[in-house]
Amino acid sequence: MTETNEAKLVTAFELIKKIEDEGGEAYIVGGAVRDYLSGRPLGDIDIATSEPPEHIQRVFDKVIPVGIEHGTVIVRYRSVSYEVTTFRTEEGYEDYRHPDEVTFVRDIKEDLARRDFTINAMAMDRHGNIIDPYSGRAAIENRQVKAVGDPFDRFTEDPLRMMRAARFASQLEFEVEKETRRAILAKSDLLGHISMERIAVETLKLYRGRGYKKAVSLVWHTNLIAYLPIFNTMTSFLNTVPLVRLFSWPELITYYLAYAPSYSIKEWMKGWKLSNKERRETENLNIALHEYLVENRLTSWILYVLPESLHHAFSRVLQARGLADESILFQIGEGYERLPIHSNRDLEFQPQDLIFLYPHHHKGPWISEYMKQIEYQVVEEQLSNEYEKIKEWVLQWNPPENN
Ligand code: ATP
Ligand code: MG
Repeated sequence: MTETNEAKLVTAFELIKKIEDEGGEAYIVGGAVRDYLSGRPLGDIDIATSEPPEHIQRVFDKVIPVGIEHGTVIVRYRSVSYEVTTFRTEEGYEDYRHPDEVTFVRDIKEDLARRDFTINAMAMDRHGNIIDPYSGRAAIENRQVKAVGDPFDRFTEDPLRMMRAARFASQLEFEVEKETRRAILAKSDLLGHISMERIAVETLKLYRGRGYKKAVSLVWHTNLIAYLPIFNTMTSFLNTVPLVRLFSWPELITYYLAYAPSYSIKEWMKGWKLSNKERRETENLNIALHEYLVENRLTSWILYVLPESLHHAFSRVLQARGLADESILFQIGEGYERLPIHSNRDLEFQPQDLIFLYPHHHKGPWISEYMKQIEYQVVEEQLSNEYEKIKEWVLQWNPPENN
């Protein structure tokens, strides 16, 4: 266990003690128990408690009521946020989305029964004792993602769990247990009831996981692929898996654009319900990749047009395509530092200087087109970023056409 895991647990145990001091029960549940037992760094810590939200609101100073009707509040304790949820069961998933009703219960074991996989259905008390009615610990040892109870029923209740199985298999590099896998194959069509936003979250987590190659293959072989827009049109899907993990939708789409050439970036955005920010980032990455493929190397111009925030993303896309090795990130960073200018504001020669030289030319789009040429020459170090040098270049060699 790492030092930070230890510190995180100790603070969570303190929070639990406060609830116990008021007569309640509380446990660490879900992903944090799983990650602690598998020696992975802890993410957010979720707490399950016997107490209703109103009691929790009285125990702590800072409580944000995020989902009172489901029994969930966020508690801020020592500058960390915890999701604290009252023990509950869920019944009737008529619309395949939300349980029709949640019933609050008094026993942690009943709460664990509603959880998706045995590795996620454990609780830990503040002394470190593990409550494990479904043998989640053994599943961790056997590296298995196994549904709690009957997998066919559990996937019928909530079909998103099938995508979650694939993404946990990827994140943890586990296998999906045989019966659970059979159930996915049998129930894959139900994924059609799930909103694209939720499928997109799990799909991205899948590609971010270390075991993404196997998980991608699982998604294909269980036919979950049928509900993943555009991926489901690629005949080469299994033969065009990225060579490294990808961490964002813009990276994924830039990577896959070449393998689904009839789909535009706009269509990816629409199909997967992605944001404008993701669209802009995809466009930027795609321009950079295109330029890289044309020039067959990292040019200054690529580094100039690529936003610095996309350096990591671009390096992963190049590696995913087999166009570069991991040293590319360093090369991008170094090349970027060495650029003569980082924005057109850095140019020593500005549009008004051009207008001053050609006062009788009509103002029009030629100015920005011309400035773009200067920018390119300076970035590519064909021209030094000095007023006199640029002026000379304009006057002697490259006068704009009169119009
Ligand atoms: P991550 O590290 O990705 O956050 P996690 O295990 O915390 O992993 P969450 O999606 O945050 O995953 O869910 C928290 C817990 O809630 C899970 O561990 C599981 O016990 C339960 N859970 C979440 N989604 C479902 C679901 N669709 N069906 C049943 N149980 C679920
Ligand atoms: Mg979580």
